[in-house]
Parts: sequence; structure tokens; C-alpha cells
Amino acid sequence: MSNITKDAVILYSGGMDSTVLLHDLLKQGYRVHPLFFSYGQGATFGEKVKASYWLTKYNINAHLIFLPKMDWTSSSTVKGSGTEYVEARNVIFLSYAMSYAEANKIPEIYTGFIGLNYYPDTDPLFVKMMNEVSTHVSGVQIKAPYVRWGKDDVFQHALNMGMDGLELLDNTISCNLAFNDITCGECPDCLARADYRSWITAE
Ligand SMILES: [Zn+2]
Repeated sequence: MSNITKDAVILYSGGMDSTVLLHDLLKQGYRVHPLFFSYGQGATFGEKVKASYWLTKYNINAHLIFLPKMDWTSSSTVKGSGTEYVEARNVIFLSYAMSYAEANKIPEIYTGFIGLNYYPDTDPLFVKMMNEVSTHVSGVQIKAPYVRWGKDDVFQHALNMGMDGLELLDNTISCNLAFNDITCGECPDCLARADYRSWITAE
């Protein structure tokens, strides 16, 4: 394990994947610079509450980026109903992150994408191509260490790192139909999280 402090920007939403990544990077000795995006998502308030829990716990400040509401999207994340996918959302987020990292001389950007979602803006090819853009423009590298994993792998990784599984579930939000901090209980993310609770309580 390296004891050299390195700086990294992290796309941070208060969701499970990015929270596990945040813990992972801190454990590896990184000084992290989280970017939290507000883009009109229904769960903005809930995400902020959850994100604040971990930022306070780890004593880190995040940089909030307020974007105009993406009211053109057909995604439930903003509209309350519709598709799960938010059109090209991560192209937008990573573009801001590249500029922020370059301006602040931060050499790496980390994201908690899990490629097994099969969204076009979280898969391994997307990460490779955005990394090419970023290294060309600014020399900043984009890394997505979980990009070949599914959500189960991320949760198992958290437990392997010694994170408290219940604390993680209670203080993260990952639901495309969430409003404030009320989740739907029925989408794939909500069902997976119910499963993880049963893993822990069965142990
Ligand atoms: Zn849900």
C-alpha cells in the first residue's frame, strides 16, 4: 500500500458505488476532491444528505456544481417517471471534472461506474474513450476501477474493505425514482439493496 499522497477528483453522488470508491481511495492514501452535481434530479436533497454524512465522517469538503435542470431528458431521475438512462449525463459530468482537475493540477479523475449496467456512458469503452480525450486535452487520467463489475461486486468489495454494510446501505441512495430521500422500493437498485440487507442479516 502506497503512503504517498496523491490527489484525485472523484465524481461523488452519495450513491453506493461512489461512496465505496471514496472509501477505497482514502484507504489507498489519496487526497480526494469530490465533485457533486445538481442537475434537477428528484433526489437532489436526499443525495446531498447522504453525501454529507460521508463527507463529514471523513472530514472532506466537496465542490458542488449546479447545472441547469436537464428538463429535456426522458429519465425518471429528473422527470419522476420514464427511462432509467439519463442521456449522456456522464459526458457532461466528466467534462466538468476534466476542466476542474486540469485547472487545479489534479492528475486523476475517478468514477464509480459499474459497466455491467450496460449504459453507454458507464461501460469500459466509454471510459477508455473519455480517457483519451482527457489525456489529450489536459493530461488528466480518467479511472473507473469497478467498470468491469456489477453492483454485487461493489457491495462485496465494501465488506471486504471492512466497511459496515448496514451503515453503507442506510447512508447512501441509489434509486432512479427517488424523490428527496424517499426511494421507490421496486427498481433494480432498490431490489438489489434489499438483497444486500438480507446478506448481512443472514451472516
Ligand atoms: Zn428504486
